[in-house]
Amino acid sequence: KAISDLVASRLRDVADFPKPGVVFKDITPLLGDADAFGDVVRALAARHTGSVEGLDGLDAVAGVEARGFIIGAALALELGVGFVPVRKAGKLPGETVQRTYDLEYGTATIEVHADAVTAGQRVLLVDDVLATGGTAIAAWDLLSDCGADVVELATVVELAFLGGREALGERAVHSLHVVG
Ligand code: IMP
Repeated sequence: KAISDLVASRLRDVADFPKPGVVFKDITPLLGDADAFGDVVRALAARHTGSVEGLDGLDAVAGVEARGFIIGAALALELGVGFVPVRKAGKLPGETVQRTYDLEYGTATIEVHADAVTAGQRVLLVDDVLATGGTAIAAWDLLSDCGADVVELATVVELAFLGGREALGERAVHSLHVVG
């Protein structure tokens, strides 16, 4: 409750971004507040240090470009594990594994380095906002393709009215603040 309220207080609604009719949840006020940013990272980390059965013993945190990098890198350091970038196609220099998923108009492809995770590694997937879930599902399945055991999706904000949690199905989700 307290952390949800804190997140809410550091979110900015931007109308008609990136297109008319969409209210974009902007996390930059949260990132700009060191105390709030720290509280959010520690709250996300707390579930993975033994307080919740089955969620500890992580080997890596994977974050989705671009805001998932910001939260994910901080979280990885807080947890004392490495960080795996999940990037839009064409950015990573080495051999990659890809997944393509549907957007409202067209498709998107994301990828990770083929050697970024090894079989059986326990990975926490992180993004800033869960909307329809398309990105998270693609990232989760991509990491699974690489042999990772994805323990959970951690997000700062969940836009419940877009149905991402339902779309994720069996894949577990934890969000600090749920909208709608
Ligand atoms: P989804 O694939 O529809 O769940 O969209 C999730 C992706 O789009 C995530 O990578 C988010 O960073 C981004 N996203 C969607 N809506 C918002 C928003 O309102 N604020 C910030 N990011 C968003």
